Parts: sequence; structure tokens; C-alpha cells
Amino acid sequence: MKQHLLLIGNGPAWMRERLETEFTVHPLPPEAERAAFLADKGAAITACCTFSGIATEVMDALPNLKIISSYGVGYDSIDADHAAKRGVIVTHTPNVLNDEVADTAILLWLATSRKLVAYDRYVREGRWLKEGAAPLTTSPEGRTVGILGLGRIGQAIADRLGVFGATVVYHSRTEKDVPYTFYPDLVEMAKACDVLICITPGGAGTKHIVNAEVIDALGPQGILVNVARGSVVDETALVKALQEGRLGGAGLDVFEFEPKVPEALFAMENVTLQPHVGSATHETRRAMGELVCDNLSQYLKDGRVLTPVPECAAIAKV
Ligand code: NDP
Repeated sequence: MKQHLLLIGNGPAWMRERLETEFTVHPLPPEAERAAFLADKGAAITACCTFSGIATEVMDALPNLKIISSYGVGYDSIDADHAAKRGVIVTHTPNVLNDEVADTAILLWLATSRKLVAYDRYVREGRWLKEGAAPLTTSPEGRTVGILGLGRIGQAIADRLGVFGATVVYHSRTEKDVPYTFYPDLVEMAKACDVLICITPGGAGTKHIVNAEVIDALGPQGILVNVARGSVVDETALVKALQEGRLGGAGLDVFEFEPKVPEALFAMENVTLQPHVGSATHETRRAMGELVCDNLSQYLKDGRVLTPVPECAAIAKV
């Protein structure tokens, strides 16, 4: 008899096929049909695979739930403390996406600094012919780059920065054994930086950690790159600072109310925008999907999991 699995969100067909070899899969129905579905099937469900977190009400409507395997390293849309208290193990997909997200951060920085997107438009719109050579940009070489969140991805970003002759500095909750200067105060780090790259988790602990004071400390020549979560940056303060020329530029993969992006950013040549695609390549998404399925398969096999989130480390057998 197969165990029953709740599937939240849309993943690739191959994942669904793989999950169906081991579980009876129940996609979470739309809101209007949800209560009836949960009343009918909730008690049978022991596992969950999610692409978009899980509401705590849904988790609590599954009394026999044992494991939530989440696609992505960030799990701010899952109350992992609550899950752990209930004995439910949450797993995520760390490490397999480090390189892709680090590349995205560098891409956004370079594109913003050298106006890649604005100048692509300059060529396509025939402005090169009409207006002549485009204005000069600012070199990314030899800059001081601050990493907000020197974790797995933050370190992969730092590893890439040597190529640009950068001086790397960082701010995290704790100081690390690394050859970069640690700033216990984010505003002080922003003052010292030409570029600030955000790569912390989202959630309450980091909400608006990049506020107006941090943005002003980065200043009119500074570039802010956000590949973390939209909630990390006070977006209203960011837009205002860009409009008033108090910040030099921004490269943004994530937004506070995504997929809604402030329209004020659309016309700005010093801003590069991406639709939350930090890890979105065929290769990396495949690796993430495999890890999501591997965690579930391992759990079925012997109760162990491969990559539990830290909140569940004490209750997970690895
Ligand atoms: P890690 O847990 O390895 O690193 C997180 C880092 O953030 C740690 O250095 C941690 O500090 C620091 N941090 C946490 N809270 C705070 C805080 N309140 N103030 C300062 N620093 C803090 O995570 P990963 O590197 O694997 O991933 C980081 C995040 O990247 C994910 O949670 C996700 O939100 C985002 N991400 C975005 C993607 C995209 O598509 N744009 C794709 C993948 C991830 P300390 O070590 O001191 O605890």
C-alpha cells in the first residue's frame, strides 16, 4: 500500500511521475474545494511535497503528517518551528543551487554597473545611430563588496569576487573564520561598501534589514543587489532613494510583493530587474527536484532524511 502525499504547487512532469511511483499523490485543490478535500483525505496524508510552502492551517489539517519536502533552500513560507514541535520533519534543497544563485548575483551587479540592459535597449531602439556613443559607465573592478549573509550562497559569491579584484566584507549574525572583514553593524558595512549583495533568508528575522538608513549609507554611487528575498529590503525606501538619486543603482531578482514590481523602477536605466530566477536553470532545477524526491524516498526507506532544515535537526535522523 502506497503512502499518501499532498502536492502543493506546480513542478515538472518528471517529478510528479517519480513521486507517483512511490506515493498516491493528491494535488492541493483550489481554495474553494480545500476544506472538503482536507476533511476527506487529511488524515490519510503522511507526506507533503511543496513548491510554494505550506499554510499552517493546511499543515494542521494533516494529523498524520510526518515529512514536508520543500523545493528550494529558503523555507520562509513554512513554519518550521511549528512543524518541529509537531514532530514533522521539514527538508529543503541546500548547496545544489549555490553556484547558480551566486552567478545571478554577479550577473546583476555587472549588468547594473555596466548598464547592460539599458544599453541593449539603446542599440535596439536605434539610439546608437541617432545619438552616437552611449555615456560611460562605472567599472566593477577593484570595488569593496559587502555580503549580507555569508552562508552557503554568500560564500559562493565571495569565491567569485576575487576575479574582479574586490575587497570582500560581510555582515551575518555571527563572525566566521574567513579572511574577510566582519562588520557587526550593517550600516557601518554599507558605509564602507561600493556594492551590497543581500543573500540572507527571508522571514521575520530579516524583514526590512536593508532600510532607508542602510540605503543612505550605501549612497549615490552604491549598488544594491538583492538575490535573497523581497522582504529583506524596504522596497518603498529603495524606490524613493533611487528616484531621489540617493542610491546609485540596484540589481533585483526578488521583490517585496512579487510578482508585482513597483512600476517606478521600469524606466530607470540604473536598475536591472529579473523575475526571481536566481536558481532557474534546467540543470539546477533538476538537481533541486532530485533532492526533493530523494529526501522523500529516503524517508520511506528507513525514516532518515538527507537535508533537514536546522529547526528539525533534533527530530530528524540523517
Ligand atoms: P545559509 O543559511 O547558508 O546562509 C544564510 C546567511 O544569512 C547566514 O550567513 C546567516 O548568518 C545570515 N543571516 C540569517 N539571518 C540573519 C540576520 N537576521 N542578520 C544577518 N544575517 C543573517 O543560506 P543559503 O546561503 O543557502 O541561502 C540564503 C537564502 O538565499 C535563502 O534562505 C533564500 O532566501 C535565498 N535564495 C534565493 C534564491 C533566488 O532565487 N533568488 C535562490 C536560493 C536561495 P549566520 O551564519 O551568522 O547565522
